[in-house]
Amino acid sequence: MSGDRLHVVIAGGGVAAVESLLALRELAGQRVEITLVSPERQFLYRPVTVAEAFDRDEAHTYALDEIVSYEGGGQLIWDRLESVVAAEHVAITGSGARIPFDALIVATGAIAHEPLPGALTFRGRGDVAALRRVLDELLAGSARSVALTLPAERTWPLPIYELALMAAVHLRHHDSDARVWLITPEMEPLELFGPAGSRAIKEMLKACEVRLLTSSRPALVRGDALVLAGGGEVYVDRVVTLPQLTGPRLQGLPRDQNGFIPVDSHGRISGLDAVYAAGDVTAFPLKQGGLAAQQADAVAETIAAELGIPITPQPFKPVLRGLLITDGAPLYLRAEPQRLPRQVTGAAEATPVRRSTPAASCAAGRPLWWSDAKIAGRYLGPFLATARPQPLSSALLTDRVAAPPPLPAADDEDARELALMLADYDARWGDYAAAAAVLDGAEALQGTLPPEYQTKRREWRTERVSTSDGYGETSDGTT
Ligand SMILES: Cc1cc2nc3c(=O)[nH]c(=O)nc-3n(C[C@H](O)[C@H](O)[C@H](O)COP(=O)(O)OP(=O)(O)OC[C@H]3O[C@@H](n4cnc5c(N)ncnc54)[C@H](O)[C@@H]3O)c2cc1C
Repeated sequence: MSGDRLHVVIAGGGVAAVESLLALRELAGQRVEITLVSPERQFLYRPVTVAEAFDRDEAHTYALDEIVSYEGGGQLIWDRLESVVAAEHVAITGSGARIPFDALIVATGAIAHEPLPGALTFRGRGDVAALRRVLDELLAGSARSVALTLPAERTWPLPIYELALMAAVHLRHHDSDARVWLITPEMEPLELFGPAGSRAIKEMLKACEVRLLTSSRPALVRGDALVLAGGGEVYVDRVVTLPQLTGPRLQGLPRDQNGFIPVDSHGRISGLDAVYAAGDVTAFPLKQGGLAAQQADAVAETIAAELGIPITPQPFKPVLRGLLITDGAPLYLRAEPQRLPRQVTGAAEATPVRRSTPAASCAAGRPLWWSDAKIAGRYLGPFLATARPQPLSSALLTDRVAAPPPLPAADDEDARELALMLADYDARWGDYAAAAAVLDGAEALQGTLPPEYQTKRREWRTERVSTSDGYGETSDGTT
């Protein structure tokens, strides 16, 4: 502590980092001194990059030093977190600097990989030029069809739907009759958003003449065919997919087999004092900006409470808010998938649902929350709403639809419930190693797993599970 101020070091310059900075500043004010360590000088609003190849929009960038220095200030160090000596409360950077901290928030995001050799992986701005080339080939007739495909069910799905819809409209607009496919392992399109989301997107895909193939997980690209897990091929000239993510394997921090950091539902890293993590870097299996922000809020509240600020820190309770960019009016989606009946969300196994509230799925053509940003961060959305810093106190993110009624059961089971559901998704494709790793992360959230999932994990680890569910046959999802 310097004086009575807590020195909080935040590693990262993305959604979780900026959200935790804003939340801490709002909750703890001058009682925290914040240092942000980031290899980038800019915060790029990545979700909007999907529109750039179609010249429909341009993703904004925001100078991190302006965000950090706003209202009382903080320090931006242009460097990267290399390792942590938790026992000494020291973060070590890539340049060798040792930064002492009272609390450390690791928000360094994930590393994006290509899941499907032969396909174009769309990760953001760096892939816009390649996507443009694919569109040009389709317009020139040197390619006649394109498949937009989701690599796994628990990949954040919205960008692939946006790309499919915008590609279809772009091609029609230029008088091309090239075919556009949307191929997804989900049982229903936008399955995570429940029946309201699926109904809405089906109509949109139909209106744009996008061919939809569900329950189909891409396995490999071979010549002019996309080969599906479990057999079957779709003949297409080009394939576009989304990245597969792994964690950054930072020294001095625990990690699961994929490099992600297991955290509890307040973002605490087990066994380490005053070290927290939020966002894509954590072992929570669904990587999404809105969720990264919600995790960051849980961390900020925990730190504020430990400072003695009168607040009851809320655990991370995932709420999905998605804003789908389309050719016409945007589509707003809101869901709490963990509260939807399992047969709707599609897990193959008859696991009892802890509770089910149909109101947990909502789709509309008008904003369902304020500010109606693509990344629905409680502090980040309103902060960026006018593309410059603005006072937050009276303008936090607010839902414009009724949330599902409060539940009598322990709400802090929500994050674990969603993680269990996503583990079942991996398992139904025969991806047992991934499913077992997701359960490790789910266990960290609350310190326990329900008994049936302890059994499942044992079985998945030894792959002694029947493969007769028709979804997949090997642990890598290939035929
Ligand atoms: C094409 C696409 C579209 C998307 N659309 C949406 C959407 O519409 N809505 C939505 O909510 N989500 C969307 N997402 C997901 C969303 O972008 C991520 O989930 C979100 O950015 C995760 O936030 P994060 O802070 O954990 O990680 P990131 O935003 O990736 O930020 C990580 C930061 O850490 C920095 N960093 C990396 N290594 C280090 C280190 N060693 N030390 C210090 N800093 C480091 C990086 O430079 C970066 O600034 C989309 C993703 C993609 C790929």
